[in-house]
Amino acid sequence: MLYKRSSELFCEAEKVIPGGVNSPVRAFKAVGGTPIFAKSAKGAYVFDEDGNRYIDYINSWGPMVLGHAYPPVVNAVIEKAKLGTSFGMPTEMETQIASLAIKMVPGIDKIRFVNSGTEACMSAIRLARGYTKKDKIIKFAGCYHGHSDSFLIQAGSGAVTFGSPNSPGVTKGTAKDTLLAKYNDLESVNTLVNANFGEIAAIIIEPVAGNMGCIPPKEGFLEELRQICDKNGILLIFDEVMTGFRLARGGAQELLKVQSDIVTFGKVIGGGLPVGAFAARAEIMDYLAPLGPVYQAGTLSGNPLAMAAGLAMLNALEEDTSVFQRLAEKTLYLENGIRKVLTSNEISYTINRLGSMISVHFDSNPVYDFQTASKGDNETFKKFFHGLLEQGVYIAPSAYETWFISDALTYEDLDFTIDAIEKVAKTL
Ligand SMILES: *Cc1c(COP(=O)(O)O)cnc(C)c1O
Repeated sequence: MLYKRSSELFCEAEKVIPGGVNSPVRAFKAVGGTPIFAKSAKGAYVFDEDGNRYIDYINSWGPMVLGHAYPPVVNAVIEKAKLGTSFGMPTEMETQIASLAIKMVPGIDKIRFVNSGTEACMSAIRLARGYTKKDKIIKFAGCYHGHSDSFLIQAGSGAVTFGSPNSPGVTKGTAKDTLLAKYNDLESVNTLVNANFGEIAAIIIEPVAGNMGCIPPKEGFLEELRQICDKNGILLIFDEVMTGFRLARGGAQELLKVQSDIVTFGKVIGGGLPVGAFAARAEIMDYLAPLGPVYQAGTLSGNPLAMAAGLAMLNALEEDTSVFQRLAEKTLYLENGIRKVLTSNEISYTINRLGSMISVHFDSNPVYDFQTASKGDNETFKKFFHGLLEQGVYIAPSAYETWFISDALTYEDLDFTIDAIEKVAKTL
């Protein structure tokens, strides 16, 4: 494939945008080479500036669960745009999407809309701190909750005491309030809770981790977290920015039958426009301004174009009673195909999957937390990524990413992908 135009555009972009991109993972740093520039997308396919077509397994990192340029979403945005693109006043549609989300997701009475998953998680921990009147939070190594300061934390040398910043610009003062536990490791949580007794506002977790590959929770792990929270007056926050409206109508909470206290959304809920949201029972949500003391605001929050896209997306998911089943079946089909190919080519691998989230790790040991996810062979992944790109299959340019399956993928597309993997596997 030729990437001439993409390379030229990247050179131009680098002059005026740091690294040429507005979000780091797009830059292909983990896999080498220069990013391909998108021109358009439709259904299961994305087309680049050189006219190449790819079967898309990123789907804008999740939002396009029904495929690109999904007509009801596109039409809703076009019609709304004609009426004005932002008012800074409440609109009827905000109540409609709020009511629909509350109907779809278990255990929430009220929801507030923001502009990104980052904002949703940032606001959720502020709300948890305001509500519990405690400062500290526990997060899990390898879970991603956006780029706000409190989450850019790695385990400190004395992990039991507090974390340390993993980006310059995050202060030690902020880092000391974020404690790092290990995913799927209850003992690490109990140690932190005991060492910081009475000081913890919230435990925040991706109920199915998707930012270190796909890592499902071990049996009983979330249930036990729920109990630890209840016993200690800690709020449990499920970050469902990736899993919400993807794993089930009501997200991971519905699928895994564990109820959080606060849940955050992004990605699918905006149908491809910038939307995030956080929700909880009324007693907690009413702590927010203007009703309560916890401040949170946004000039473009609840933006009519974004709400129109989100509402059209949620309506489509609500009406189609078999969509999540179909997504899971397609993903399982892909999993079985990849297993067959990699096994017959004697490549060491582990595949993790839950519903429509799947990841391929180039290591034969089980992957259940950040440490085990880090053991994958990155050189093999790089070859795998570029090989697939060359075959017209676009997966995320990082070994730590989940593949996002969309319902626009046909079984022909999946077979094409498995054939492409067969070709690439011979070169690994
Ligand atoms: C993508 C993601 C975020 C951040 O959302 P942005 O819209 O990129 O700010 C937060 N949490 C999880 C689990 C995510 O996957």
